[in-house]
Amino acid sequence: MQWQSGEPRLIPVHLGFKAFASIASVCAALFIAGCAPTPKPQPKAAPVIDEPSRESVADPLEFKDPCAARLHDISGAMLLCYAVNHQLPAQLQDLSKYAELDQTLEFTCPESHQPYVYVREGLPAPSGGRRLVLYDATPVHKGTRWAILMRPSGPGQSAAAWVVQLSEPMLQAYLPANVPPLK
Ligand SMILES: [Zn+2]
Repeated sequence: MQWQSGEPRLIPVHLGFKAFASIASVCAALFIAGCAPTPKPQPKAAPVIDEPSRESVADPLEFKDPCAARLHDISGAMLLCYAVNHQLPAQLQDLSKYAELDQTLEFTCPESHQPYVYVREGLPAPSGGRRLVLYDATPVHKGTRWAILMRPSGPGQSAAAWVVQLSEPMLQAYLPANVPPLK
């Protein structure tokens, strides 16, 4: 696998059909709970994922890496959690209830066996609106770390997430200046 410094490899995360169905049902439930009885509950939930990311096709080969596959599952749960709560959970483990029915989320790297580093508020990207919310504790993947970037929802855009592979210089660029370099 060739690594080119300076350009993170982005793997768009897509919510599965079940997740969309879950969002629709949750939104419908909230609508019903929040309003007086109505004969016509909202038939459709607002779209959660922006259209461009849905059009991107993730390379299935990427998820042969078990760590990337775990992060893909986690990031899908993050998007669903964010869609429901407008924030990420205080504890990473709280994402488990947002996993797809046939998924069991794992919060440790299968290679290093160390828990992923989770930053609930996210570390802002050097440029752009993406935030680093989770990454490998050590650069165990041939000197790189798998990580999750999230873009929070804002005016005219919905939240999105990407599974990326970061070199050490790229990871350092996310860390505040007053944080000592990682070991
Ligand atoms: Zn890993």
